Amino acid sequence: MKRLFDEKESWTKEERKTRQDQSLSRMVKLGYKKSSVLKKIFDSHKINPAKIKTREDLEKLPVTSREKLVEMEMQHPPYAGLENPSIPIDRIFTSPGPVYEPHLSEMDYLWARAFFAAGIGPGDIALNAFSYHLVAAGLTFHNGLRKVGATVVPSGTSSSQIQVQLIKDLKVTAYIGTPSFLMSIIDKSKELGYNFKKDFRVKKACFAAEPLLPWLRQTFEKEHGIATYQMYGATEVGDVAYECSRKSGWHICEETIVEIVDPATGKNVAPGELGEVVVTRLNDIFFLLRFGTGDLSLLITKKCSCGRTAYRLAGIAGRVGDAVKVRGLFIAPSQLKLLSGKFEGLPLQAVVSRKGHEDVLTMRLEKSNIQVGTTIWENNFKKLFKEICTVKIDNIQYVEAGTITSERKLILDERQW
Ligand SMILES: [Zn+2]
Repeated sequence: MKRLFDEKESWTKEERKTRQDQSLSRMVKLGYKKSSVLKKIFDSHKINPAKIKTREDLEKLPVTSREKLVEMEMQHPPYAGLENPSIPIDRIFTSPGPVYEPHLSEMDYLWARAFFAAGIGPGDIALNAFSYHLVAAGLTFHNGLRKVGATVVPSGTSSSQIQVQLIKDLKVTAYIGTPSFLMSIIDKSKELGYNFKKDFRVKKACFAAEPLLPWLRQTFEKEHGIATYQMYGATEVGDVAYECSRKSGWHICEETIVEIVDPATGKNVAPGELGEVVVTRLNDIFFLLRFGTGDLSLLITKKCSCGRTAYRLAGIAGRVGDAVKVRGLFIAPSQLKLLSGKFEGLPLQAVVSRKGHEDVLTMRLEKSNIQVGTTIWENNFKKLFKEICTVKIDNIQYVEAGTITSERKLILDERQW
């Protein structure tokens, strides 16, 4: 059986870089020629398009946020003047803003890599419970499912009762949608007197558009026998990353260049550090270079045992605005939640202050049980903190149980700016 979707997924680091650099250079040259808006951006920053030859050169260009794109689209409707006028566009999507995006092409592999990695293929009957209406999700996921040979039930956002009916009548084997909707479908099936695991055949689920909470994942996998996979993308740039069967990070799609940058400077951070996910999709239709997603993540460069060589994103740690920078490194509330979960939901709070010119990170921890505060416990806590948050703790302050209430901010920034 084929282990990978195509040979690109096993390219060496050097091979991938060379090919992607070539595609990028081609895209920039074509964009400069075809899009007067892109030409203006280059000219105003005094950048010669011929000088953008590698992914490192992208740093010379500004990051375009969703807000900025909306602004640009208002000035040059409908696509901000970033499209290639010589290529017919097959469909137009919208996302909140409103932002309009030309669909790339039906030939594109959008989401197919993700479905392949989830083991979906010929013989699968996939229920696509994403909206087919205005937004990109439904139709692009549909195309991806067809690319791997699955039969699609385009159920869209029909009621959970109808979804249960379709799953039962059509012997659906895979679910594509949000985790919360799958949960309500399962609840509805119980209400109708079914046992989801025994009575139905749904064994795989691919999720997007919503975070998959660890307890929910466990419920799907353990209780309902469904293998779950996360997918990540944005309407503006298509699919960006997807989970493989190892479920330890999301492989970056071969058609995209992903940078992890410091949102304040637009410069790449070191591998393993938290930053904003910035995406450039290599294509010749929509010349959106360096799209700033506003999502925070970090890059895993270690090899994955699945055989795919593409670097992985370590999930999404939150939105840029929620994170706080300590000694040049971001910490996000989601990282602290993850850490708390590793210690039986230990109530905690990070306090960032300043001593002279130095940032000081103090962790306030509740003495919720007798182990908390012992040397062994503390060393273990510090070690896991460093692993999850990258930053080192300066002080630990133990407080009485019940002091850190859920209304308190997970990160308290006491620095004066
Ligand atoms: Zn993998």
